Amino acid sequence: MFKQHLQKLGDQHLLRRLRTIASATGPTVILEGREVILLSSNNYLGLATHPTVVEAAIAATRRYGGGSGAARLVCGTLTPHEALETALARFKGTEAALTFAAGYLANIGVIPALIGKDGLILADRLCHASLIDGCRLSGATFRVYHHRDMNHLEQLLARRTSGKPTLIVTDGIFSMDGDIAPMKDIAQLAERYGATIYVDDAHGTGILGPTGRGTLEHCGVESRVPYHMGTLSKAIGSAGGYLAGSAAFIAYLVNTCRAFTYTTAPPPATAAAATAAIQVIEQEPDRRARLWQNRERLAQGLTRLGFRLAASESPILPIIVGDPDRAMNLAQALIDQGVYAPAIRPPTVPPATSRIRLTITADHTDEQIDQALAGLERAGRTLNLI
Ligand SMILES: *Cc1c(COP(=O)(O)O)cnc(C)c1O
Repeated sequence: MFKQHLQKLGDQHLLRRLRTIASATGPTVILEGREVILLSSNNYLGLATHPTVVEAAIAATRRYGGGSGAARLVCGTLTPHEALETALARFKGTEAALTFAAGYLANIGVIPALIGKDGLILADRLCHASLIDGCRLSGATFRVYHHRDMNHLEQLLARRTSGKPTLIVTDGIFSMDGDIAPMKDIAQLAERYGATIYVDDAHGTGILGPTGRGTLEHCGVESRVPYHMGTLSKAIGSAGGYLAGSAAFIAYLVNTCRAFTYTTAPPPATAAAATAAIQVIEQEPDRRARLWQNRERLAQGLTRLGFRLAASESPILPIIVGDPDRAMNLAQALIDQGVYAPAIRPPTVPPATSRIRLTITADHTDEQIDQALAGLERAGRTLNLI
């Protein structure tokens, strides 16, 4: 049965396999014995390998050990967890914050804590899988609106049974497309129709907005959205998810959220690394500037070469290829050219939109970007994509 299933996936060019990288997640990595330029990590600011972050993780491990020993509500809340939540609340400008072992767990835990069977969820069609899973787990009626389509969202809001608790769910930066949710318009609709907003800012946290607080800061609506969700696993360079909001909201989650309660607290090292990374974000704004410069260099180069890019506004730059086998061929041609950016295929993206999702970081040099563009050009030509 397993083999049959795998055979079927293989026939559809949808089989996946794990590839091991034998180095840190820097601008270049060692893949199967060769050094390649990495253009697929979400370590946007290079903080996963920042010396301050690495040293903080080592120091926390020395002092507090490799694991936390228990769930947060038993005896797993160690000083580094508390310090991280204090730092996050200060960074996000909220009363309190709560961290989860993963962004995935935050979404599947918090959405069901916010809305139940009697509620309605309206979600963007391109929402991250963890949001979809959270929505399904909640048991609420679940409808999708066309991607970033405010007319469609308004229609669904206007049509619902009056008085039905409603949650609007969206990514901040869309993870596979790199465009940004129209948060001002969403906030306006939410206010007009009495709905609540849940924004997953996994990719915006640390990189968007004048101080890096994310998509809501970028769109000028922080105060209009009562709580903010993001991850510590992308620009923050560690692991975990977070919610920032009022003290009452955070205490409510501590008391109701199963994905918080029934799992062991993350290792002290990941909490300490995230705290150090938030400090670096505050102290080294140049990293953010460098990230956006690099993003422009890569985006302009790709456009000049004639690649068909998605409508990205972020360091996520997808080259839409279409069929999964073509995306696989491009990914392999890129590896041959010394560039690592795997194919993203259904069900991660809608059918016929298989792609190479390129991402750039603050740590890539101009030379590395130009070298990657030369590799992309050769690979694109070989496959008649440009
Ligand atoms: C990566 C991601 C998550 C999951 O976060 P993890 O910390 O990796 O579990 C959730 N939402 C979005 C939009 C993501 O891109």
